[in-house]
Amino acid sequence: MKIAGQVSLADLPRVCPLLCRSTHPEYGEAETRAVEVRGVRFGDERPVVIGGPCAVETQEQTLNVARAVRRAGADMLRGGAYKPRTSPHDFQGTGREGLRILSEAREETGLPVVTEATDPRMVDEVAEFADMIQIGSRNMQNYPLLAEAGRVGKPVLLKRGMAASLVEWLGAAEYIAQQGNPDIVLCERGIKAFSNGEYSRFVLDLNVIPAVRAHTYLPVIVDPSHATGVATMVEPASRAALEFGAQGLIIEVADLAKLRPICDAIQAITPETLASIARFAHANRATEKVAFA
Ligand code: PEP
Ligand code: MN
Repeated sequence: MKIAGQVSLADLPRVCPLLCRSTHPEYGEAETRAVEVRGVRFGDERPVVIGGPCAVETQEQTLNVARAVRRAGADMLRGGAYKPRTSPHDFQGTGREGLRILSEAREETGLPVVTEATDPRMVDEVAEFADMIQIGSRNMQNYPLLAEAGRVGKPVLLKRGMAASLVEWLGAAEYIAQQGNPDIVLCERGIKAFSNGEYSRFVLDLNVIPAVRAHTYLPVIVDPSHATGVATMVEPASRAALEFGAQGLIIEVADLAKLRPICDAIQAITPETLASIARFAHANRATEKVAFA
């Protein structure tokens, strides 16, 4: 029986003809189209390490973490100025002031900045300050937001919806590409499963990484912080992701000795642990490690 709306990987040439490997033979079976963000290249052999706070809370906190992340060997800085929170009563970020702080951190450290846009109306503002626009898991299927992010002319980091199939994820990326912007990096950040919350926040779907690489020429990175929600799991999850062929990592870092963050403190790693992950990542090549038939 055929069900309306049912799609499988066989439908990819129709769902995302701009992005899927089968409609782009020029990329062969394994080549990734590199995405460049202010000189940092996603999809080359060298994995990209992004570190930074969950949220831009204060200037002092953000600059401290940014300096520590640079010393640890990261290639880029992350940090949410606008935060999508489960409750409207939770801290929502520092907005435009947060964006200004991020650009100050970029100026000081030289690290390109990725930060989230949570609403189509704020994409222009975020693009004014950011080097790369992040679309969060909760917004993966916010189609007007995807179109705006595609239109504005900056590379986009598209996180996987926490319950999204690979076809839905690549279909969402196609909305960005349709605006003429193929500079998209995909990010696996953990999915919903029956065990959520028992011993980890989500379940890191390592298995999707070789499948992504088989079906699209876009680079794919992993967020081990939100996927696990447990600081001690972040380093082993990072190593595992790289073994599975992830082309980069985006990791939450806090200088807990200086300040405990309001947002996601339990999953934040120290700058020392980030340095250990960056050493491992940069000593490795993100070539195709797990073949996907
Ligand atoms: C984040 O990276 O700041 C974030 C909120 O992650 P996600 O959208 O994956 O939950
Ligand atoms: Mn977070």
